[in-house]
Amino acid sequence: MSKTTFTNSVCVGLLLIMTACAGNTARAQSTTAGTHINPWAPTEVGPLPPIASLSNGVWLKGDLHLHSNHSKDASNNSVGKIIAFSRSVGFDYICITDHDNHVNGDVANNTWTDPEFKSDSVLLLYGGEWTTTRGHGNVFSARPYDHQRLYDVRDQRDVVIGAIVKELDIHLSANHPSGKDHFGFSYDMVKSIEVWNSCIWSKNANAIMIWDDMLSSGRKLTGRGGSDSHHGEPDSPDKASKNTYQRKANYVGTPTTWVFATSRTTQAVVDALTNGRVCVSAGPYAPRVEFFADLDQDGKMDMMMGDNSKATGKPVKFRIQLTGKTVPDSVYTINVVKNGDPYTTLRMTGKTPVVEFTDTPATLGRTYYRVEVQGPATAYPQVPQSSALSGNMVGLSNPIYFNFDPNF
Ligand SMILES: [Zn+2]
Ligand SMILES: [Zn+2]
Repeated sequence: MSKTTFTNSVCVGLLLIMTACAGNTARAQSTTAGTHINPWAPTEVGPLPPIASLSNGVWLKGDLHLHSNHSKDASNNSVGKIIAFSRSVGFDYICITDHDNHVNGDVANNTWTDPEFKSDSVLLLYGGEWTTTRGHGNVFSARPYDHQRLYDVRDQRDVVIGAIVKELDIHLSANHPSGKDHFGFSYDMVKSIEVWNSCIWSKNANAIMIWDDMLSSGRKLTGRGGSDSHHGEPDSPDKASKNTYQRKANYVGTPTTWVFATSRTTQAVVDALTNGRVCVSAGPYAPRVEFFADLDQDGKMDMMMGDNSKATGKPVKFRIQLTGKTVPDSVYTINVVKNGDPYTTLRMTGKTPVVEFTDTPATLGRTYYRVEVQGPATAYPQVPQSSALSGNMVGLSNPIYFNFDPNF
């Protein structure tokens, strides 16, 4: 065998082996593609907890993001002033969330021990604004907790922070999630997100986008509001600060967060925030957006926003209604969002406007629906410039969920 022939034979042999290998590889790949099972693919969800009563509860309105003079960037806004105002406008609950960095984490010996931190009519949650290098979050708690521990851990890895949040048994919430001081942490350690910050509705578009991303990826995350107001009415004109002008536009209740609580207690407010029976209105007098679903089309509503049910493959009737003071003779526009995308637009009118639509949620995989309501602004005379800044945004609901895994 000549050297050339040998080389040729080797080459042909190698070519054959390579072809054979290529064939095997192609087969192996197609086999892999054919049998690969994604362990995270949607499967049928197990039995879900029963849906709580739709009637056994009370709607409570409040504000979840407020700064008193215990925050150094606030002015003319004592704890007593905030509580007296809240009471005068009929708020049921508030959470004063002073910046913890202004007191080195010691919120408990500042805001909460202020002699003015008491009320016999307004429920006062315990909270603070966790003010960190990576952004801000609010804590809502029915009782005092060790905020110092959360402050101390603020620059650690999320896995360390998450463990502390769990140990403290607090409701942590992402504040103003886009823009300056956005919540730069994992959303796996929060139970709610501030989708409506301050009276200026238009600046919340990116917050809504982040919320839809979190919902679409399986996180049952409550959307809530917060005025983030810092400045109160000065006792006399000479006490005014350069920010006093804000008081007329952004104060307690711009926007207002409504919770459907099982009782009039701080714990029930926090529980409602966690379970998502929550909606947000431009102000305390703007109508409340209620969103229900009738699973068996018997005309009786079976679920409200925040509730999660197994999809049966049968059509579901959804109902949106506005409760409270609507502007007479006006039309309200409802934008329904399904799984992060616009689904349908509806219109409603009348004294107690109601509108319905029907859809069949998929039996496999998650589906959620939420609504935003636009229409004429309802005046808030105690904060007179707020309604102009919220524009035609009236309110938004939390989602109604199908097939969301409670153990996600
Ligand atoms: Zn903040
Ligand atoms: Zn704030």
